[in-house]
Amino acid sequence: MPVPRIVVRSDSSDYEVLAVNPAFKLINNLPSDEPAHQALFALIRNGNAKNKAILRNALEESRSTCKAVEIAELDMSSPELQTDSVLWWQIEILPVANELGHPEYLILSIRDVTVAVQAEKEMEEAQSREQCLHEELAATNEELLASNEELNSVVDDLNAARLRLEEFNAELENRVLQRTHELQEAQSVLGQQHHLLAAVIDEVPAGIVVFKGTEMTIDRINTKMLEMWKRGNEILGKPLIEVMPELKAQEFPKILQEVYATGIPYMVWGSAAELIIEGVRKTVYRDFSYTPLKDEHGKTHSIVALSVDVTERTLSRQREQQLLEEYTAINEELTAANEELAATNEELHESQESHSLMNQNLVESESRFRNLVMEAPVAICILKGEQLQLEMINAEGLNIFGKDGSILGRSLKEALPEPGARPLILMLKEVYRSGQPFSGNEMAAAFDHEGSVKSGYYSFICKPIVVEDGSVNALMVVATDVTERKKDEQRKNDFIGMVSHELKTPLTSLKGYAQILYARAQKAEDQFSLHSLGKVNDQVKKMTELINGFLNISRLESGKIQLNKQEFYFDDLVNENIEEAEIVMATHRIIFQPCERLRVYADREKVSSVVANLISNAIKYSPGKAQIEVSCQVIDEEIRFSVKDWGLGVRKEDQAKLFDRFYRVESRETQLISGFGIGLYLSAEIIERHGGRIWVESEGSAGSTFFFQLPGLSSTLADG
Ligand code: ADP
Repeated sequence: MPVPRIVVRSDSSDYEVLAVNPAFKLINNLPSDEPAHQALFALIRNGNAKNKAILRNALEESRSTCKAVEIAELDMSSPELQTDSVLWWQIEILPVANELGHPEYLILSIRDVTVAVQAEKEMEEAQSREQCLHEELAATNEELLASNEELNSVVDDLNAARLRLEEFNAELENRVLQRTHELQEAQSVLGQQHHLLAAVIDEVPAGIVVFKGTEMTIDRINTKMLEMWKRGNEILGKPLIEVMPELKAQEFPKILQEVYATGIPYMVWGSAAELIIEGVRKTVYRDFSYTPLKDEHGKTHSIVALSVDVTERTLSRQREQQLLEEYTAINEELTAANEELAATNEELHESQESHSLMNQNLVESESRFRNLVMEAPVAICILKGEQLQLEMINAEGLNIFGKDGSILGRSLKEALPEPGARPLILMLKEVYRSGQPFSGNEMAAAFDHEGSVKSGYYSFICKPIVVEDGSVNALMVVATDVTERKKDEQRKNDFIGMVSHELKTPLTSLKGYAQILYARAQKAEDQFSLHSLGKVNDQVKKMTELINGFLNISRLESGKIQLNKQEFYFDDLVNENIEEAEIVMATHRIIFQPCERLRVYADREKVSSVVANLISNAIKYSPGKAQIEVSCQVIDEEIRFSVKDWGLGVRKEDQAKLFDRFYRVESRETQLISGFGIGLYLSAEIIERHGGRIWVESEGSAGSTFFFQLPGLSSTLADG
């Protein structure tokens, strides 16, 4: 296509157009008859004023310099014309000089470079966008670098922390190893103690069996129990009822279930049981206890049954009872015979005629009486006159004295010259003198049996025979030999003493180890161990108190308890005991009636144990009541101490027996309260050895007051 061109006059101020070629008209949408000879800028209608000025300047430059000028890109867009909105021209201005060398015409050659310019612009824009993206990328990169550094420092910190943790871990592991080692050592010591205890338990001459679960499966059993049942180890792991079906109809399974369900121990003395032993049904008598074993939540999981075979003792008691009844019957018959004799005598006086008849009656009666005496299974003798002449003695009596019939007719002193018989003779003389009957229980005496001295214990009744004028002319003595029974009891006491003593040593070391472990657990803040060891301590304390009780009993009975008397203030001792009781039991308020300063000469420790026992009993046997009243006063120049409670009280028939060994009141309420019936027995012995007395006053369920009265008051002081 030809290049659009315009020729203008250079000397006209508005660049008059001389010629326009059709190509120019075409690109500018001008009509083909568009006239020339009009001002250049009238012809060029597109482009804005600024760009037209650029064109004008270029025209001016070409005219003035007479040189070609080129405008590479000129924006000739005219949005207002609504033609092509974008339009770029390349304009070349070429001067045509006249003969003088001045430019006469200017030829404008125009080329449409819109497409090229637009492409270039787009390129630039793309480049500028790219530049922007580059910058953003650089900024992001910087940010990433910064976060990277931060991350690096966090990683460093973490590494340092990890190292510290590793060190800490290693230290912890060391400590755990050390603790495990220590625990293993302690466990091994405990294991040895356990073996020792197990050995003691197996040697104990009482049967011990542990029942597990509600099935009462035999979990453990000692040798003595197996011997008592005449069974072997094959019964281990079997339920009690399966091993002894004969018990089903008896009360024991029910009691066991009750102990299991309530967790309250059960104890009974001399209970009868029907057992089939080696195929033979037998009635046996046992002192036994069922003690529940509990887990750390206080739930019973097993029961320990401890059983002592007292069949022999019970049967011998029953025999004794029978004999006593027989004595009484004999006595009654004797009295009746006596009465008959008296009546006969009277009749003798009344009638001379009936004398022979009476005599016969008398002879008959006497012979009956003699037969009765001679055949009696207990020792009987009749002693006549002040010299106590042996008028009659049966075989059993001769047997006890270790003599033969040659002693008949002799005085007792002649018949029994040995020193061991002296207390008996003195006592019988006193009965003769006073005319008061006397019964002795377990009195010691030693008789000469053909050269060897035989010591023994005898229970007897001695009754004076009174004649018409009221004077005593003979004594009748009925006696039984209780030596074997007494020895049995002594052996039992010795055994209790020995076992209690043996149990004390392992218990002391158990206590020591428990305390060491407790201290360690305190250091390690091991709450579970602290709790468990606290429980162990409580149980060890209970057991120590129990063993001390048994030890005291055995010492007492073997006469080994000595009084260590000293002077002290009795009221201080009472105050100390009240304080101690209040620390242990917060359920009751103890009111101590103020009393004067009382100085006394006695065994302080033992009297203190009596005061403590009475106070703790008052608390123990008044559940649900809040008050205990303690008082002391001077009566008949002796101290009278009392403890009053508003609890269960003591029935009249039980009051005298409370101070007997192992005596416990049997009732629904007391069954729920644990104890062995030792405390009051020991208290009574202590007070009596001081020459004092102890007693209880109670109106049944209205509570009770326990008293003791103690001599040895040195002086009553008003000062402190
Ligand atoms: P334990 O209390 O260990 O059984 P004790 O010898 O101290 O032994 O007491 C013997 C019995 O006397 C007790 O079992 C109880 O029946 C009875 N008893 C003791 N003190 C009281 C009291 N304050 N109130 C009611 N009964 C008591």
